[in-house]
Amino acid sequence: MATRGKLLIIGFGPGSFEQITERARTAIQESDVIIGYNTYVDLIRGLLTDQEIVRTGMTEEVSRAIEAVRQAESGKKVAVISSGDAGVYGMAGLVYEVLIEQGWTEATGVEVEVIPGISAINSCASLLGAPVMHDACTISLSDHLTPWEVIAKRVEAAGMGDFIVALYNPRSGRRTRQIVETQRILLKYRSADTPVGLVKSAYRASQQVVLTTLGEMLEHEIGMLTTVIIGNRSTKVYDGKMITPRGYQRKYTLDRAEQPIKMNERLREEHEPWALHGGVSAGRGEKTKRAGSVEEDASRSLGVALAEGANPSVGVALEARANSFGGVAVVEDATEVVNAAAAPARSSADLAMEAVSLLVNRGVLETSVVAREAQVQGDLFSQPLILEIAVSPGVGNKKLTPAQMAVLLDVVGEDGEFEYTPHHYVILRVPTREPELISEALTAAGMIVQPLGDVVQIKACDFCNLEKTESLPQAEELLRRFGGLSVPKELKIGFAGCGMACYGSVNEDIAMVYRRGKFDLFLGGKAIGRNAHPAQRVAEGLEPEQLLAAVEEILAAYKGKGHPDERFHKFFKRVGDVAGFHHEDYQAPLVIESICGD
Ligand code: SF4
Repeated sequence: MATRGKLLIIGFGPGSFEQITERARTAIQESDVIIGYNTYVDLIRGLLTDQEIVRTGMTEEVSRAIEAVRQAESGKKVAVISSGDAGVYGMAGLVYEVLIEQGWTEATGVEVEVIPGISAINSCASLLGAPVMHDACTISLSDHLTPWEVIAKRVEAAGMGDFIVALYNPRSGRRTRQIVETQRILLKYRSADTPVGLVKSAYRASQQVVLTTLGEMLEHEIGMLTTVIIGNRSTKVYDGKMITPRGYQRKYTLDRAEQPIKMNERLREEHEPWALHGGVSAGRGEKTKRAGSVEEDASRSLGVALAEGANPSVGVALEARANSFGGVAVVEDATEVVNAAAAPARSSADLAMEAVSLLVNRGVLETSVVAREAQVQGDLFSQPLILEIAVSPGVGNKKLTPAQMAVLLDVVGEDGEFEYTPHHYVILRVPTREPELISEALTAAGMIVQPLGDVVQIKACDFCNLEKTESLPQAEELLRRFGGLSVPKELKIGFAGCGMACYGSVNEDIAMVYRRGKFDLFLGGKAIGRNAHPAQRVAEGLEPEQLLAAVEEILAAYKGKGHPDERFHKFFKRVGDVAGFHHEDYQAPLVIESICGD
């Protein structure tokens, strides 16, 4: 019986030995015959021993495929080599086409193994930084086998869809207009400042890497050995590297003023607290290094801004917030963004601006806010950002008025959403580039807005429908001083207006119960989970000032010594003593075997 032949369709990557996969190497070495384009054979010459070589010119792919099938059917192991990946503009599809033409099936025909290699989109991206971090496509500009009208449609669709684009075969000696036309099409959808990387002969001796822009890319050398990588509307250049942010939709909250953040500020816990859970050590390192007094950080919190502006002038509140975060830097960045953003496409944040206009028309927002609209319009990045905040009608008040609900509806618009939570607030998620406008509108309507993430939140009872309000000022003071303070892990302060301790307050991380003008203090509760347990009572009969001082000291200790992501009850147990309050192990209830079994 004749030996069954085998086709090894090999992608050997960009061309350097270091970038050839182990399987591609062994496949080349175990082959009887190597079939490839002249240049490719030369690139892998160092791996060849005594194999028969069949080499052809550049345009003879079909004849190479036919010859490969013929030799394999004669019982030989035949390697068909392509640079990059054999399945990406390589030989794999062509060989299959020849096989299918001849009635090949996997069960009866020669064995086929396609061996993957590193395609140019990957090798070139690695030399540029990390431009292909999001949805991307490859488009060959060669109209040798594909009509230009089809290619142009694909470029148009890629531009419309904000894909990162890797252009293969961008230009040859005679074919020069396609890259010009491609630039023209993409400029309809992207700024001329969009970063572009030009990589010639990646990982070969003649390698060249150029970082340019969509507007200027044609001023540089582009040829058949060049791969052009064009960023999407979020791609940035940082320190000579082309980087596209990861992630589909960025959420942000209100505990930081300068948003959107700059490229070098992403993935830090203090900027993107949602981004690093279980993640990046550098960010965590930053977090552990953070210092500063509770008061200082509290002054950064939204709680302060809200409390200071019980009925604030929007302009004053904005100014106060800009000052508290370093207003100069904010203004400079905004200018930079205005200059850079020539994004022609309408973003979803435009819709948020329409919501703001509605609020102005109804007199909810002051015109000083609108004066910033021109700046805001230029401040829109194309990638939608989702503002995520907690909103409630008051510290003790749990009832929204119809007017407040109308404002909520306005700011949420058609693209935002509400989420009802068991924590006495609703979470709002709103696409916007201007979070201040949203929070000011809500604040002006008498609502409390708190940031989400790893921050302090105050969770008070309703003071018997606001009929037992003796301790309400202390709850409001807690919010003013500590609401929104960043901490290692989200922390809730439960506040009960009397010994009934409604709303599960004593199960929270920190809790206080008001009794006859004084407070009992509880630490280390765990409100959820199979091992949920109440907080430990650590003090009784604290005067209001003593209570606030104790909470400040406790939060400072947690902030200073807590590990990233360490919940407060674990922190309390680990350190054993916080602000002079000693931890005692919670006695879990006895486990009693069920008589009936499971
Ligand atoms: S804890 Fe006391 S004051 Fe608060 S709602 Fe319950 S009964 Fe009323």
